[in-house]
Amino acid sequence: MGNAPLRTYATSQIIKFYQRLKLGSENSLVQDVFKAICENSFNPFSRFLSLLDDCKVKLPNPRERKSIKTQTQKSIAALLDMMYDHWDQEILLNKKLQIFNIVKDSHDPDFYIFNIDDRYARKYIASMRLSTHPLRIEVGRYNRTLRENRLCQFCNMNEIEDELHFITSCTLYSDYREILYQELNDLGNPMWLGCNSNEKKLCYLLQPKDMHTSKLIMKYIRSCLDYRNNQTQLVYN
Ligand SMILES: [Zn+2]
Repeated sequence: MGNAPLRTYATSQIIKFYQRLKLGSENSLVQDVFKAICENSFNPFSRFLSLLDDCKVKLPNPRERKSIKTQTQKSIAALLDMMYDHWDQEILLNKKLQIFNIVKDSHDPDFYIFNIDDRYARKYIASMRLSTHPLRIEVGRYNRTLRENRLCQFCNMNEIEDELHFITSCTLYSDYREILYQELNDLGNPMWLGCNSNEKKLCYLLQPKDMHTSKLIMKYIRSCLDYRNNQTQLVYN
């Protein structure tokens, strides 16, 4: 479900491209390539067109060129509305996506997805948002540990090791956190300065809106996970 914003974005781009293809000159290079692909294999849009059909979304008629833009926008809006409704329902029902449900404030792909080139760096924020990490709150789901027993084993706070604890309060990472908070304070974003609880800080940290903040947060999560991993090896070796 976490890639739903990207999927919806890609879908709207496909609709626009498909319309451009339909409206383009018969002799254009793009048309030639499209025809060649269709002749040698299958229509690359066939799956997409059947999806639209299933959703009962009509594509604009390419012959009605005057209103083509408005019609395309309406088609995209109708399809996205359906996808968003489905997405919202899925998120509410999926316990694994509780954090994602809290931090996700729009249906659009988040800032860091398109603006941070390093995909290994992006995965650190995504892992916290989508609960694909080694914290006990997640691991305990698979080994059937009761939620209240999934306590952090790296500090004495007697708290469940979930995303909130890991990012905002576990004492194991106090040094890293002190540096991060100081750097964010120096940036002076009023949204950050106004976060007066750990819950609000978690939301801010997991939905960064600018490049600098995104990089700081990714570095912090990576450092904490690496440190945790080292501590785990010390305990079990
Ligand atoms: Zn802890």
